[in-house]
Amino acid sequence: MGAILSYFKNILAGFWNLVLGLSVTTKYLFKKTNTQQYPEERMPLPARSRSMIKLIYDGEKDQFNCVACMMCAKACPNSCIKLEGVRGPDGKRRMTTFKLDFSTCIFCGYCVEACGFDALTFVSEEYENSVYKRGSLLQDEQAMKWVRPPHLAPKPEEPAAAAAGAQA
Ligand code: SF4
Ligand code: SF4
Repeated sequence: MGAILSYFKNILAGFWNLVLGLSVTTKYLFKKTNTQQYPEERMPLPARSRSMIKLIYDGEKDQFNCVACMMCAKACPNSCIKLEGVRGPDGKRRMTTFKLDFSTCIFCGYCVEACGFDALTFVSEEYENSVYKRGSLLQDEQAMKWVRPPHLAPKPEEPAAAAAGAQA
């Protein structure tokens, strides 16, 4: 008799577990899905994501903003940045070559913070950075060239605020 009772108890327990499992499935069946079908679907990252470091190029002046002051290279804890510059006929220094080795970069942002010439920036949109060869992670100024889109242009009050901050 005990064996028969145990048999039916096991059947009931199995049925109850089935109901529990189906209730969880049903609960999530009608919820909004968070899974995305990458690469067909791509999630826009927040604007301040640190996806890639870029060298800002001024299209109107047809030149990079970098003046080869070397502050970014000095600030980098991993010595990822190597660059050179020359003084032009107008007496101003301009960058001639810029190399950043992303294979040792830790995206700490010290270089971007150290730059006082609005020449380096993080961008959020370029997050597919995997390569087949490690050497491909050494990027030069042409690979890092980035023209700031108009909707990300600095607000007019920002330079004044920055100057006020520098004087404080
Ligand atoms: S993000 Fe950090 S590690 Fe990478 S280049 Fe800049 S300072 Fe160096
Ligand atoms: S700190 Fe800015 S301006 Fe100076 S070398 Fe680096 S990128 Fe160029």
